[in-house]
Amino acid sequence: MIKRIGSAVIGAVIIAAVSLFVLRSPIFYLIHPGQESMQYIGETEFPSYASTIAKKDGSLVIVSNPDSLLVLVNKDRRLPDFYTPPDLVIPNVRFSYNGDKEKMQMRKEAAKELEKLFQAADREGVYLFAVSAFRSYERQKALHTMYQKQEGEAVTAVSSAIPGTSEHQTGLAVDVSAQSSRFQLETSFGKTKEGKWLVEHAHEYGFIIRYPEDKTAVTGYMYEPWHIRYVGNPHADYLFKRRLTLEEAMPK
Ligand SMILES: [Zn+2]
Repeated sequence: MIKRIGSAVIGAVIIAAVSLFVLRSPIFYLIHPGQESMQYIGETEFPSYASTIAKKDGSLVIVSNPDSLLVLVNKDRRLPDFYTPPDLVIPNVRFSYNGDKEKMQMRKEAAKELEKLFQAADREGVYLFAVSAFRSYERQKALHTMYQKQEGEAVTAVSSAIPGTSEHQTGLAVDVSAQSSRFQLETSFGKTKEGKWLVEHAHEYGFIIRYPEDKTAVTGYMYEPWHIRYVGNPHADYLFKRRLTLEEAMPK
């Protein structure tokens, strides 16, 4: 009798040990793809809103992590005055124009991944063109003032960023277009072969479509299928699979 209880206990211990091993191994995630999210937690941490505020500036806050690849800059959160990214380079990709070198620049890691993204698109016969990447504080200020004069306050408020609040100043964002969109930044780009390819593949190279059509209330921006933002991976992959914007992924 004691012997039988003994073997039952040993058996139970073995079963428990095996289950624990299987549950913690990659095999479990292969068999249960729905549980994949469990693997992500921890690996994919986003800095919180509260931990990335340097100080308040009227109705806005100034971010404390402007050099972070995960920096959140939007209508409520701006970069420090005259911030310039530390490692700007010009990516070796097709541009829709020649000349103005300033706006061809991006942070080094983002530039390297943009090159890979363009090469992957090329291999599938999808020809993307970079239009505008880095934009300095001074340049954004000049553009914003010009739009206010030409388009008026209301239109400018939803289409152009107040100086210091443009993602282009981080060196992590780039506007892309294609010949089928006449190299313009228009919502119709989202319907083109190139725009559709970008939606499906940008995350593989660490980029996100920053202002999706169904998230205008969250981002505060109109749909911009041309504006991609580098966040790196696994973060871009995480956002893509869950259809989340940066704002939604960051803890408060
Ligand atoms: Zn843009």
